[in-house]
Amino acid sequence: RLYNEVIELKGNIRVFCRCRPLNQADIANGCASVLEFDPSHENELQILSIDSSKKHFKFDHVFKPDDGQETVFAQTKPIVTSVLDGYNVCIFAYGQTGTGKTFTMEGTPENRGVNYRTLEELFRSSESRSRLMKFELSVSMLEVYNEKIRDLLVDNSTHPPKKLEVKQSAEGTQEVPGLVEAQMKCGIFSREDMVLDLWDQQLQTSKAAALIVKGENLINGQRTRSHLWLVDLAGSERVGKVEVEGERLKESQFINKSLSALGDVISALASKTSHIPYRWRLQDIDISPSSTDQGETLCSLNFASRVR
Ligand code: ADP
Ligand code: MG
Repeated sequence: RLYNEVIELKGNIRVFCRCRPLNQADIANGCASVLEFDPSHENELQILSIDSSKKHFKFDHVFKPDDGQETVFAQTKPIVTSVLDGYNVCIFAYGQTGTGKTFTMEGTPENRGVNYRTLEELFRSSESRSRLMKFELSVSMLEVYNEKIRDLLVDNSTHPPKKLEVKQSAEGTQEVPGLVEAQMKCGIFSREDMVLDLWDQQLQTSKAAALIVKGENLINGQRTRSHLWLVDLAGSERVGKVEVEGERLKESQFINKSLSALGDVISALASKTSHIPYRWRLQDIDISPSSTDQGETLCSLNFASRVR
């Protein structure tokens, strides 16, 4: 069963690459774009290498610098709504600091990102299916910092922190037993804004929110429980490029360790035969077009394209 799942899983992974526009600092420093987009191939891009040769990369979709949040969500929507059909979904942003991970996931109040649009779409879609299905949506939120998981829905200043761990459930999905699941209705977690305000207030570390969807088919009584993880990873920079020490070094070593674990999962997926420790849909690498970031961009592209 696991072997079959592995093959199926590869088919279930989508990798989107999004390039942010050159920013003021890039322009002030005289940096030019090292990326080329082919208008007739929406899933390809080329990066000028340090030796000025061109490297070609293919993804499920490539978003160009002037593609807005709506364009990104148009591609994401079918993936997120599949949680209402009982599929487990995980969306995360990967990439160097400053390339647009938070912009993509959170966005700004005028320019909402994937998180907000996802909640909006799930509320809308679940209501429009209410004659056939009854849905109950709850939310959990956590932060991972130096390998410790903190429940963001618990006031950790008044409660002694619970020791939380990621465990594999009998169905092979990843769960964090003991995490608070707050039901999204009447008052506290009524709509998108409330949930996302809470997410915004948190520290700038790796954060994740899970929407837990319980569905009941009103015709045949069949029940489903599935979850959608939304993850904003900390930056992917390699240790050594930036000088870090103390807590920051520990954090950066941990991030590298997490990424190498992620790399192992991706290699396993690519080889199709080995045991897959996770069940994910990988999505969205964020990159900078600028010549100053060329090394990191190439690194991110190489990493993310291993999935395909
Ligand atoms: P990260 O979370 O990867 O460190 P941010 O999301 O904080 O990066 O983005 C860095 C800056 O670049 C922010 O000011 C953000 O508004 C801007 N930015 C990122 N991506 C885009 C984009 N696609 N279009 C416009 N501005 C962007
Ligand atoms: Mg960020």
